[in-house]
Amino acid sequence: MSKDNFRSGFVGIVGRPNVGKSTLMNHLIGQKIAITSQKPQTTRNRIRTVYTEERGQIIFLDTPGIHKAKNRLGEYMDEVALETLGQVDLILWLVEPSDFSGEGERYIASALKQTKKPVLLVMNKIDTVEKAKVPEFMEMYRRLYPFEEILPVSALRSVNTDSVLDAIFRCLPEGPAYYDEDTVTDQTMRQISAEIIREKALRCLNEEVPHGIAVEITSMKSRRKKPHRADGDRKPEKASEAAEGKSGTGKGRPAYDDPDTIWDIDAVIITEKDSHKGIIIGKGGAMLRRIGTQARYAIEDMIGAQVNLKLFVKVRKDWRDNAYLLKELGYSQSGN
Ligand code: GDP
Ligand code: MG
Repeated sequence: MSKDNFRSGFVGIVGRPNVGKSTLMNHLIGQKIAITSQKPQTTRNRIRTVYTEERGQIIFLDTPGIHKAKNRLGEYMDEVALETLGQVDLILWLVEPSDFSGEGERYIASALKQTKKPVLLVMNKIDTVEKAKVPEFMEMYRRLYPFEEILPVSALRSVNTDSVLDAIFRCLPEGPAYYDEDTVTDQTMRQISAEIIREKALRCLNEEVPHGIAVEITSMKSRRKKPHRADGDRKPEKASEAAEGKSGTGKGRPAYDDPDTIWDIDAVIITEKDSHKGIIIGKGGAMLRRIGTQARYAIEDMIGAQVNLKLFVKVRKDWRDNAYLLKELGYSQSGN
């Protein structure tokens, strides 16, 4: 990799819930890290992903959408989004293609003005509108804020997404690589696994149990597959409890994707209401099995090794307003 003119920096992705922030980030780094869903506010925590190539290294911070807080989780999510803006070298503001700028947009624009950071406007989902309309919408935003550039894209259909990388590299300063070339995220396997389970649960449950669920991984351990008979009765060794670290294939770390390894994962789906517990478990446990199977496949796919997933359901009333539980589940600033 040429170190000449190597550029690097932190890029915060902001925008209202559901505009496609996670989809774009996943697309740009080429891996599925942040979960996406048709329901807003699926991304609860700040997710950091790393993209490295010849031109430089981009560290993306995917933030929860800025919105009006309704409870403590909401407040925390706002805090994370706003705090992110203060820490980055460049901001990507994602909007949907429309000539409407509402309260949400004005709120974000005023926050951006205070940060005095360079901002790229990404108008996502242009596949959903008439092509001829796009310049008009771009013009409306041009008047709202002095953007470095305005980029119409479709993250879902991969339209013009390379232009986002080009623009980012034009805006970033020269700098070092902060992470190993092969680092993709600083989220732990545990966090990503919990997010996958939550995504599958939200998908399977459809609208029945809205956002009152969280997922906690209570145990994640690896063991060797049963040895062949010739090996006698040897107890299965622990392959690597220490592998509970960063994902990506950082050198020197134990690999997750050892084909002789089985990962035993226990996870609890936490819900606010007794009535929801029944729905999540389903008739004869059918719903929980469905969530578990889908999540297991997705986690196996991600880590490249066999997974044995056990799911439990617990009711914890008002967990979204409980500071202690939020911290325990990784949603508080100090907890990270
Ligand atoms: P976030 O809340 O901003 O992170 O939004 P997500 O990335 O979770 O996306 C929300 C929804 O919008 C998902 O259903 C995506 O598939 C969809 N979406 C994202 N990008 C596009 C796009 O370019 N075109 C269309 N039609 N849908 C998109
Ligand atoms: Mg998201």
